[in-house]
Amino acid sequence: MSLTIAESIEAVRSQVAVAKAAGLSVGFVPTMGALHRGHATLVEEATKACDYVVVSIFVNPTQFGPNEDFSRYPRTFVADRAVCEEAGADLIFLPDVATMYPPGPPATFVEVPGLSDVFEGAIRPGHFRGVATVVLKLFGIVCPNLAFFGQKDFQQQLVLRRMVTDLNFPVQLVTVPTVREDDGLAMSSRNRYLSAEERQAARVLSQALRLAEDAVRSGERSADRVRQILASTVQSERLATLDYGDVVDALTLEPLTDLTGRRAVALLAARVGPARLIDNAILPD
Ligand code: AMP
Repeated sequence: MSLTIAESIEAVRSQVAVAKAAGLSVGFVPTMGALHRGHATLVEEATKACDYVVVSIFVNPTQFGPNEDFSRYPRTFVADRAVCEEAGADLIFLPDVATMYPPGPPATFVEVPGLSDVFEGAIRPGHFRGVATVVLKLFGIVCPNLAFFGQKDFQQQLVLRRMVTDLNFPVQLVTVPTVREDDGLAMSSRNRYLSAEERQAARVLSQALRLAEDAVRSGERSADRVRQILASTVQSERLATLDYGDVVDALTLEPLTDLTGRRAVALLAARVGPARLIDNAILPD
């Protein structure tokens, strides 16, 4: 099947309606573009699980704070289109801001309190309100059976899972493991902000997570000692500034003390030069 580009909501609805009328299952991968192998993997997983795959490319202004990188966020549609084609997508939804947010103040938002208020939500107020709202709007436009998200944005997939559960939205979410560069750095559209020296320094995030995993695998059960490993490793890199390094329950994000019998995730965020980078690892049982 060839790749179709739809810029309007009506065009997406009619293409998806044709697919559904033919009995095809619909998979959906929401993105902000500047696509890399992480995004391509999401699309490939969607093509394995679903008959018809929609990718949205929309740099969503409402999830950026006033001093964040909305205006300089990379926009690379020609390359993105090739990535989607190669990965087997059927339809790209490429709306402009006025299509998603018609003029006038938006009146309806989706809030997922609790999960949205900590970590990324504490540092980026309003971020998850913007994410949840745009994703629900996109779900309402695309009506997918399955939607695919990256583990790289661990808190985001938890917030969205809670949203679809609470609102009884008929879509199944699939979380795809983080795709990494050969040296461990989690792929991110924001990695292209890094200079060569900063790119080397950015490896410290995945290194810290590997050390935390190793410690737990070797029997460490104190969450505080694992936190210490995360912090001291990131702080040993001159070009990195730690925002947070924590060990929390992987479903509720509540802080842990003793890891025994808990499904725990290590969450890391650090600034390296002009980029804010996040990464995480589910800790071994
Ligand atoms: P973004 O375009 O950065 O908003 O990301 C779109 C989707 O791709 C989100 O579900 C991200 O979690 C996912 N994603 C981004 N980077 C990666 C990665 N390195 N591995 C897997 N998924 C990713």
